[in-house]
Amino acid sequence: MAKQISAIRGMNDLYGADVEAFDFLLHTAQKTLKQYGFQSIRLPIVEKTELFARSIGEVTDIVEKEMYTFDDRNGESMTLRPEGTAGCVRAMIQNGLTHNQIQKVYYNGPMFRYERPQRGRYRQFNQFGVEVFGLSSADIDAELIALSARLWETLGLDKLELQINSLGSKDARAAYREVLIAYFNQHKEQLDEDSLRRLESNPLRILDTKNPAMQTVVEAAPKLIDHLDSESIEHFEMLKTHLDDLGIEYVINPNLVRGLDYYNRTVFEWVTTELGAQGTVCAGGRYDGLVEQIGGKSTPAVGFAMGMERLMALLMDKQLVPAHSSPDIYMVMVGENVQRTGMVLAEKIRDEITDVNVQMNCGGGSFKSQFKKADKSGADFAIVIGEEEVNQQMVSVKSLRVEGEQKMVEWDQLTAYLKAVLN
Ligand code: ATP
Ligand code: MG
Repeated sequence: MAKQISAIRGMNDLYGADVEAFDFLLHTAQKTLKQYGFQSIRLPIVEKTELFARSIGEVTDIVEKEMYTFDDRNGESMTLRPEGTAGCVRAMIQNGLTHNQIQKVYYNGPMFRYERPQRGRYRQFNQFGVEVFGLSSADIDAELIALSARLWETLGLDKLELQINSLGSKDARAAYREVLIAYFNQHKEQLDEDSLRRLESNPLRILDTKNPAMQTVVEAAPKLIDHLDSESIEHFEMLKTHLDDLGIEYVINPNLVRGLDYYNRTVFEWVTTELGAQGTVCAGGRYDGLVEQIGGKSTPAVGFAMGMERLMALLMDKQLVPAHSSPDIYMVMVGENVQRTGMVLAEKIRDEITDVNVQMNCGGGSFKSQFKKADKSGADFAIVIGEEEVNQQMVSVKSLRVEGEQKMVEWDQLTAYLKAVLN
């Protein structure tokens, strides 16, 4: 036997129950987004490396060490997208979609990051992302949070905690940066290697550290929220007012700075304690400067992305994924040329009852073995056809739920009969 080839570490096959959970989540999210007037957008998986370097920020975990970057055959540097916002902004600019109009879009698909694979953290994972362009007021920030809250409720997920913070304006952040550098300089001995390196280049990023040994020094650091500009304070107050009006609970987490550079003002995360270390299932915020930063006309924007695998894990742990639907009808066919008649009838049923699930026995076999498969399929009814039935232009419809319930039905009466018994 030839040597087997396995998948790349951290890149998983999804099948069976995983796919049921994926589809349930995707369809529920799509339905929820439609309720709020959002439109679907589909974007390339590969973009020029420069796009991510410029938008996510050079001094971030993603750009420094997590990107799948390669030269194409022309020697141009390409990267498998590590997140969806940069590509979405690029598409908005390139297609002129933000000129004098508001855009509300959602997308989903695989993202790639070279991280240490573990539960809830993979190298290929799926995000469902939502972005709004052209609105700067806190009402839309609140609506995005409300729609995510509605999605959790529809999915049956409770106990997710909403954390919010404000990163203020660029200027407020620049002033705060100096305060933070001074503070961390006083506590240099408590910083790890990464943080020492970031002290000058990107000190805010230190607040986002995952290193438990640094929690004390980070907890005691001066808070950005105490250094906000007045407009950002007003914006944040309005956001909180809207959330209060909507009855959405939140906690203010002053150390929530997010791992990407492009955010300003509102940032938020939905967090669970039920998935171990990988507790953030959804994260986002405002990024008013990004469109201009990558070559577009200044346009306010806000969005979020959900980690689909983490939500799928929650849904499966809590058994919230609806059971796989079994067929309504299993067709049992035995005898010379009976399969040919059965196949035509099966198509006729699907033509006339469009939401019916008809599973046809393929590959022959005795009545006994076919009935075994019919039972195993979980179907409600078997349609049984032998040579005798074909001669009489009839079929036998047998309940697989009620013992002894069986009826001979003429071909041209069949769909009417099925419609009656299936409900
Ligand atoms: P984390 O702090 O967990 O590394 P992040 O801040 O890097 O997350 P974002 O870039 O904000 O994550 O991505 C949005 C969401 O995508 C996250 O909240 C998470 O649910 C999910 N996510 C991010 N990275 C991964 C990954 N490697 N595997 C699975 N899901 C991921
Ligand atoms: Mg990360």
